[in-house]
Amino acid sequence: MGRVGFGVAVGCAVVTCAIAAVLVGRRVQNRRKWRRAVEVLREFEEGCATSIGRLGQVVDAMAVEMHAGLASDGGSKLKMLLTFIDNLPDGNAKGTYYALDLGGTNFRVLRVRLGGKGSMIISHQVEYHPIPQELMSGTSEDLFDYIAMTLKQFVERADDGSEQKADEKKELGFTFSFPVRQMSVSSGILVKWTKGFSVEDAVGKDIAQCLEEAMTKAGLNMQVAALQVNDIVGTLALCHYYDKDTVAAVIIGTGTNACYVERTDAIIKCQGLLKNSGGTVVNMEWGNFWSSHLPRTSYDIALDDESPNSNDQGFEKMISGMYLGEITRRVLYRMAQESDIFGDGAYNLSIRFILRTPSMAAMHEDDSPDLREVRRILTETLQVPHVSLRARRLIVRVCDIVTRRAARLAAAGIVGILKKIGRDGSGVASGRAKGTPRRTVVAIEGALYVNYSMFREYLNEAVVEILGEEAAQNVVLRVSEDGSGIGAALLAAAHSSNR
Ligand code: ADP
Ligand code: MG
Repeated sequence: MGRVGFGVAVGCAVVTCAIAAVLVGRRVQNRRKWRRAVEVLREFEEGCATSIGRLGQVVDAMAVEMHAGLASDGGSKLKMLLTFIDNLPDGNAKGTYYALDLGGTNFRVLRVRLGGKGSMIISHQVEYHPIPQELMSGTSEDLFDYIAMTLKQFVERADDGSEQKADEKKELGFTFSFPVRQMSVSSGILVKWTKGFSVEDAVGKDIAQCLEEAMTKAGLNMQVAALQVNDIVGTLALCHYYDKDTVAAVIIGTGTNACYVERTDAIIKCQGLLKNSGGTVVNMEWGNFWSSHLPRTSYDIALDDESPNSNDQGFEKMISGMYLGEITRRVLYRMAQESDIFGDGAYNLSIRFILRTPSMAAMHEDDSPDLREVRRILTETLQVPHVSLRARRLIVRVCDIVTRRAARLAAAGIVGILKKIGRDGSGVASGRAKGTPRRTVVAIEGALYVNYSMFREYLNEAVVEILGEEAAQNVVLRVSEDGSGIGAALLAAAHSSNR
């Protein structure tokens, strides 16, 4: 080999070595980045841990906070609001009842015919009506005149052959989903408008009375038998109508809330206001529950800090549909920053609330071998194409951690309520001896629970885990929908003057 040949050979070898070094270097670097992404996942998983011990602490904290909220106003982050509902409907209710559901730019009117024992709900009719834009910022008289006229026309139109006489006084359940200070089962003062309404002269007035005056003016012989300012009460009423063992209701949808039946003598802060000696429904506003035992991560803290209501609704921010997708996005964004598993184009991951909970659920529940749905959502919603299969698997893990924690905490909250009222099978608060279990039903509403099967499974599973197999056999979680409509009509039946 001549000198030139030798030189070329050495040159080639050097170049090959250099390329190999670069490749090896890159692989090492990739592996390191991958490891960092996995590390983010690990850390997050640790922060979200919900061991049975931890859940037990949350159960106890819920029961303790409930006591505190019942003892005095401001005694707890749980508001524990009195609803004055002291009678829940059962299958014996009979007659024709109406409901008006007003909580946004549309309202609903309903008519429900109850057949009494054995026949339950014979028929029901519903109509939806928009509220004209100008009425949303006009006078309270114009707004309620319009609603009363619409209601009157509905009553006249929706003749379903019931025996109710035209001049007979009709009973209405009124769902009014705005901040209201409830004064009695059928009255409440509007504190302020939300959701785009600004009918200022209604603020400070009894909203049921406004409606009744308008109904009288319209020549409609109808009274507000029950005012509910939170549809959670209607959810409880509806479930109780079908099943008398129902003691509590939980909503897990965009937001979350719970209510339950409390012994009147346990509502210390309202002694004197309550006449009956039995039970009264308490609206917990449990979205605001807080305890140091809740497993909170840096992602939760950042989400809360950047929210318009920071330090509020802490429980809701960990468990409800509004937030699960956003928590997931935050973890994925961190992974994108720490590694390159999403490539360079992960800009959309920095956009708050871009990942909605239904999309996150769809990724979580993707059971195709190549995670096709995950790829579709990454490409279409998050605009991060070309994510490897193993990175997609990592994303599914993140979704799982977020949802599992949420469902298990919600389960602990439910058991906390049962513990407070002595229905958790421990036999302490109820004074009942162990071994005399009572069947207990909890109504559940909300699309997160109903539509997201992994969430539902985790929640149901955790209830059994916390209560123990034996006690859990007496606890039934039952889906109950349309508390703000049919539930309101049933509340009217339970509180009607001719009951
Ligand atoms: P709201 O709570 O607003 O009265 P819903 O009970 O219908 O209404 O809950 C809606 C919320 O439920 C959505 O905001 C979303 O977070 C969640 N959700 C709806 N569908 C699904 C789904 N398929 N998977 C997961 N979450 C869902
Ligand atoms: Mg709802």
